[in-house]
Amino acid sequence: MAAPPRKAGRRIRVLLPLPLAEAYDYWLPADVPAGPGSFVEVPLGGRTTLGVVWEDAPEGGVAEGRLRDVIALKPAPPMHKPLREFVDWVAAYTLSPAGAVLRMAMAAPSALDEPAAVAGWRAVQPRPEGARITPDRARALEALGTATLPGTEISRRAGVSPGVVRGLASVGLIRPASMPRQAAFPRPDPGHAPPVLAEAQSRAAEALVRGVAAHAFGVTLLEGVTGSGKTEVYLDAVAECLRQGRQALVLLPEIALSTQWLTRFERRFGAPPALWHSELTSRTRRVTWRAVAEGTAPVLVGARSALFLPFPDLGLIVVDEEHETAFKQEEGVIYHARDMAVVRARLEQAACVLVSATPSLESVTNAKDGRYARLALPQRHGGASLPEIRALDLRVTPPERGRFLAPPLVAAITETLARGEQAMLFLNRRGYAPLTLCRTCGHRMQCPNCTAWLVEHRAQRRLLCHHCGHTAPTPPACPECGAEHSLVPIGPGVERIQEEVAELFPEARRLVMASDTIPGPAAAAEAARQIEAREVDLIIGTQIVAKGWHFPHLTLVGVVDADLGLGGGDLRAAERTMQLLHQVAGRAGREAAQGRVLLQSFAPDHPVMAALMADDLPGFLDAEAAQRAPGHWPPFGRLAALIVSSEDARAAERAARDLGLAAPEGEGVQVLGPAPAPLALLRGRHRHRLLLKAPRGVRVQPILRDWLGRVDVPANVRVQVDVDPVGF
Ligand code: ADP
Ligand code: ZN
Repeated sequence: MAAPPRKAGRRIRVLLPLPLAEAYDYWLPADVPAGPGSFVEVPLGGRTTLGVVWEDAPEGGVAEGRLRDVIALKPAPPMHKPLREFVDWVAAYTLSPAGAVLRMAMAAPSALDEPAAVAGWRAVQPRPEGARITPDRARALEALGTATLPGTEISRRAGVSPGVVRGLASVGLIRPASMPRQAAFPRPDPGHAPPVLAEAQSRAAEALVRGVAAHAFGVTLLEGVTGSGKTEVYLDAVAECLRQGRQALVLLPEIALSTQWLTRFERRFGAPPALWHSELTSRTRRVTWRAVAEGTAPVLVGARSALFLPFPDLGLIVVDEEHETAFKQEEGVIYHARDMAVVRARLEQAACVLVSATPSLESVTNAKDGRYARLALPQRHGGASLPEIRALDLRVTPPERGRFLAPPLVAAITETLARGEQAMLFLNRRGYAPLTLCRTCGHRMQCPNCTAWLVEHRAQRRLLCHHCGHTAPTPPACPECGAEHSLVPIGPGVERIQEEVAELFPEARRLVMASDTIPGPAAAAEAARQIEAREVDLIIGTQIVAKGWHFPHLTLVGVVDADLGLGGGDLRAAERTMQLLHQVAGRAGREAAQGRVLLQSFAPDHPVMAALMADDLPGFLDAEAAQRAPGHWPPFGRLAALIVSSEDARAAERAARDLGLAAPEGEGVQVLGPAPAPLALLRGRHRHRLLLKAPRGVRVQPILRDWLGRVDVPANVRVQVDVDPVGF
């Protein structure tokens, strides 16, 4: 059969936001004015789908006559070349399908159908006769005046409920009207209320500002003790970026908890930034994506996924708390947002600033090797001194039986409260007790889906798996031996510490800060308000309290179990523990009063405790480097993990063994394993792991691709590739 006659046009390649490795060829009719980066609708099987014109394709495997036509061009700004290159780069680096990466950049596909303007309301003139005007309606009409405003804005300005606006519409007093979309994101004003910077701050800020003004790629590591005013410094770089008319992106590890940060931003710039995180409503996502793409969102603050937004003119990327593991995405496309931020900045010819009081060994090494510039703020702002850190040897002064706070810590809390100051107790464990044990038979309550114990959450009277979410009521009797009243909690979680301080300090007003009690931005803002207003005396919290909070009246931090993160075989266990404890300690004494930190530990001589007490983080990192360098461990060598998993235990084991037998050799490459993965059972999947280790100069991607290509893995087994794994 002869091919149907075809319209004039040309062959192009379209990448679809689906887990496909390759772009597909299509025929672009000459009357569809799409160029590289255009969003287009194309047929796929029996349906249509959205995609992005990736490149012109002079030739391809499919005969011209059999190519299907591009259906339509979407009226959205095309994805510019640096972002397309970024998608390809991330895909190649992480060994992910390019379409899966594109999907992250198209996080709000329906935004492509947004009309060019958003809907608002206008008063109908002259007023229709007979329409009832209540006092509320009159106020709303007055607030609207002759302007066009969205309904939410009318009700906000007039102080009336959204129902009043709907009422106005139903009686014909207002009508829908379109208004410019820009209204969604007011422009932050770089000159609104800049602070007077201290001398060290000014010097650092000037260097960053020069970097932004240069319109060129460069990475700077901004270091400075907790409370030294790093935020104000990098906000100067944001201000410069605004003055240049380019867009700025700030990545924060835990955006939902960053209410204090947002307040500060708005005070300084007179307008809030655009936000990007997983809890946005789909409408806000759509509007934000579109505003970013059109360049009308000048500053965006977001979680790691914001890195894939379609900024047409990105001048600056800031990664605050660059050492945080929250920047690593462990599902789907496995990537580290801090590392990829550097790549995106390079492709966009933008400045990149990595910020931390406790920078990662990776970033410090890059700075030492001259790849990154380095700026330091050595002192706390406003003359506040750093807290005094001391270890409490639990072998010498153990807590009383059945308690977890040692007498010297209890005494320190007593003194602090007597002075009218606030104290914080940190324990990085949610719930009441991490383990529930039967006193009679020794049975341990374990998750049926994971290699993990169930954690008691006493307030809900339930046991909960922190890995898969499995939950069950706390049983009245041991499920194994049937003994009643025999299950006992072993070890503390924050709820249990809360119970202990309630007994010790019944008068003190207590607040537990954990993801169960602080589920989102509103709760975080309320907690911060209560603490700032001194409505709370004692804070008991998990790692949530380690984030950048600024609590002026907090002077004592007690770490319930400073050894908690040090066990296990994790390469970065010491580094991570040091960072976490330093951040927690940094919450104490941020204003006039001297802060104090007590670390309860069974290993007070451990290098982590020693470094914290001596305030010698550089020394600690040097020692870490000296340990890792000889064995070519990161950052002095490359590492990639293969996680082999299946619901079928034997299939997973067999596939892992086959991969082990086909392990690559040469170029100094070494394969460790297969061995059971750290969580050998997770969400019902049996997991094995192989680690590939290579010298720093070796590109591991081709080696991995080769390796995976040599082994047939059955359909019920999944192999995930994790390049630069953290937490192993
Ligand atoms: P870091 O991010 O280094 O922990 P912050 O930027 O949070 O430090 O600053 C600590 C505190 O000092 C904050 O309350 C901040 O508002 C204040 N601060 C920092 N620099 C200045 C400045 N130049 N003028 C006024 N206040 C400042
Ligand atoms: Zn589980």
